[in-house]
Amino acid sequence: MKAFQYATAHSVSTARELIGDDGAFLAGGNDLLNRMKEYLDEPKTLVNVKSLPGLNKIETGAQSWTIGALVTVSELEDHAELKKVFTGLQQAAAEVGSRQIRNVATVGGNLAQHSRCWYYRHRDTLCLKKGGDLCFARNGENKYHSLFTGNTCISPVVSNLSIALAALDATVIVDRDGKEMRLSIPELYAKAWENPTAHNSLSPGDLILKVEIPVQNRRSAYQQISEKEAFDWALVSCSSAAKVDGKKLSQVKIALGAISPMPHQVKAANDFLEGKTLDDAAANHAADLILAKAQVFEHNGYKLPIARALVRRTLTRLVEDK
Ligand SMILES: Cc1cc2nc3c(=O)[nH]c(=O)nc-3n(C[C@H](O)[C@H](O)[C@H](O)COP(=O)(O)OP(=O)(O)OC[C@H]3O[C@@H](n4cnc5c(N)ncnc54)[C@H](O)[C@@H]3O)c2cc1C
Repeated sequence: MKAFQYATAHSVSTARELIGDDGAFLAGGNDLLNRMKEYLDEPKTLVNVKSLPGLNKIETGAQSWTIGALVTVSELEDHAELKKVFTGLQQAAAEVGSRQIRNVATVGGNLAQHSRCWYYRHRDTLCLKKGGDLCFARNGENKYHSLFTGNTCISPVVSNLSIALAALDATVIVDRDGKEMRLSIPELYAKAWENPTAHNSLSPGDLILKVEIPVQNRRSAYQQISEKEAFDWALVSCSSAAKVDGKKLSQVKIALGAISPMPHQVKAANDFLEGKTLDDAAANHAADLILAKAQVFEHNGYKLPIARALVRRTLTRLVEDK
């Protein structure tokens, strides 16, 4: 690891000043410190943001909840009321890595974490994401890669929280140059869709402050399939949210993870399910709409049946759970 300076910010404006042109915000450090150890990132200054006041709270409200960027993933997992109101988010949090990782990982860091593509993570490989000319995964080892992309890089978004938050219509509040900017989850990842070197739409110095989730009285669910039972990344993940009346669905939102550089959502599928009584045929047709434009590479075709199953299972959970 290259030598760096370390500073703790006690206000957002100080954090902005300290980071300068070549610093990085440090939250739990799960992702950033590993990138530094691999020489993927060499920030001159690490700005510890864990002491920023007011960003470590979960605030409940009748219209919306706010979750501070410094709330840990295990705090989401353990929050009894959140489990009832935003079940899918609690389930997504509970699937992140291991309990040790969840104790340290923050909401902001989880949303802003970088690609896990093994070419990107290999220190000696100058892939497209690192400014090289080629996405090596396209014609190489693409087992864990995307089925959808708007550019030539095929590394997918891997943040569990982003998938659940997309289904819940959450807004991410970001400090940019002293102004608060509100981004939907699709907006937070839109740049990664277009630009092979981007992991999200944040610019250097942008600081995630909190996440706002509207209370819509919808049920939600999250499921993922991984190679290992626990302590593993999702091969594919899915979160669904909807109002449920018997088995009839409305205001449906479905988002899939690990198959696109942004949470994968297809409006036509949500629209199709509006007012429908959920049965296998409806769930399968929604999955067909979601996956219609998938581009399969040599080793990742297995993701398609998993994605179909997860759409069906998360929707079924909505109508089964009481
Ligand atoms: C073995 C292992 C398994 C894992 N499995 C999963 C998994 O299954 N699902 C999953 O979702 N994640 C998984 N993770 C990733 C882990 O959840 C993230 O690394 C973690 O959430 C990052 O949070 P952090 O607070 O540690 O961030 P840091 O490492 O401190 O920061 C991560 C990035 O976000 C930036 N950042 C941090 N906070 C902010 C902020 N407030 N505003 C703007 N930028 C910010 C940092 O500069 C850095 O670029 C796993 C990690 C490991 C090591």
